[in-house]
Amino acid sequence: MIPAKFDYVRPGSLDEAVSALAGGGDDAKVIAGGQSLLPLLRLRLAYPELLVDVGGLDELRGVTDAGDALVIGARTTHHQLIRDPLVAEHCGLLAQAAATVADPAIRHRGTLGGSLAHADPAGDLPAVALAYGAEMVVAGAGGRRTVPAADFFRDYLATAIGAQEVLVEVRVPKLGAGWGFHYEKFQRTSQAWALVGVAALVRRSNGSIAEARVGLTNMGSTPVRAARTEQLLAGGDATASAVAAAAEHAADGSNPSTDLHAAADYRRHLARVLTRRAVAAAAGI
Ligand SMILES: Cc1cc2nc3c(=O)[nH]c(=O)nc-3n(C[C@H](O)[C@H](O)[C@H](O)COP(=O)(O)OP(=O)(O)OC[C@H]3O[C@@H](n4cnc5c(N)ncnc54)[C@H](O)[C@@H]3O)c2cc1C
Repeated sequence: MIPAKFDYVRPGSLDEAVSALAGGGDDAKVIAGGQSLLPLLRLRLAYPELLVDVGGLDELRGVTDAGDALVIGARTTHHQLIRDPLVAEHCGLLAQAAATVADPAIRHRGTLGGSLAHADPAGDLPAVALAYGAEMVVAGAGGRRTVPAADFFRDYLATAIGAQEVLVEVRVPKLGAGWGFHYEKFQRTSQAWALVGVAALVRRSNGSIAEARVGLTNMGSTPVRAARTEQLLAGGDATASAVAAAAEHAADGSNPSTDLHAAADYRRHLARVLTRRAVAAAAGI
């Protein structure tokens, strides 16, 4: 289908983008890689009157080392995340999950910021951002503000980004030595969206699991942490049986949907199985 008519601007700076959004009011929308927004426009599920294209803003692109965190520009593509040496060294889980997004063509256009701002429950990178405890920096007419991942994802396709704000960068804390990671994704076919995904970060110490963080994809309207599993793992043995026992609680408190592809109970089952696999792989068991 052909999208509804809209105006289009391609600002040359972040300040211009923020001004354009302010001028467009609630009917303006940012477009980055277009890989999620364009299908919505074509289906007329979204019909903004103004598109503000941040695709020319190099200040929103790239990865820098800020000491205790990596600062990743919102316009950094999935492909760049997979190839970036700083991401590989400090945020390997992000690169591993980005490599599971769709296909190479989409990974060359789609951006980290677009994935987080779109907040699709089946998107792979929101659960990773949640597991890392990343922070999102957004800019609007009143300046910049920082939103922790735990407060960023509000509901289905809804985030803390205001209608006239731009997501500028994502700060991912460096976890330091001793952490292992793994992203486990179950999909109907190769390159499809996740029925369920599990982002695991595990710190081992002297044969035990000192700390674990587990983010779940598609187990509710937003990404969630498997809090009970994390509690059971912390301080426990780094053995297959201890991990399996903790993973049995991965779906506790979650609220997955039933759709054409999977019933909620099946998603709960997947969460338990995938969490066992992801945590064991992250812990090197
Ligand atoms: C066939 C297909 C398969 C896919 N499979 C997967 C998959 O398996 N896993 C997965 O995670 N994703 C998947 N995707 C989505 C893909 O990852 C997109 O790249 C991503 O969701 C959006 O990034 P984008 O830059 O294209 O955002 P856009 O489409 O440009 O924008 C998406 C939304 O984010 C907003 N936005 C974008 N950037 C900003 C910003 N800087 N500030 C404020 N708001 C912003 C837009 O206003 C819009 O609402 C798939 C997409 C397609 C078409």
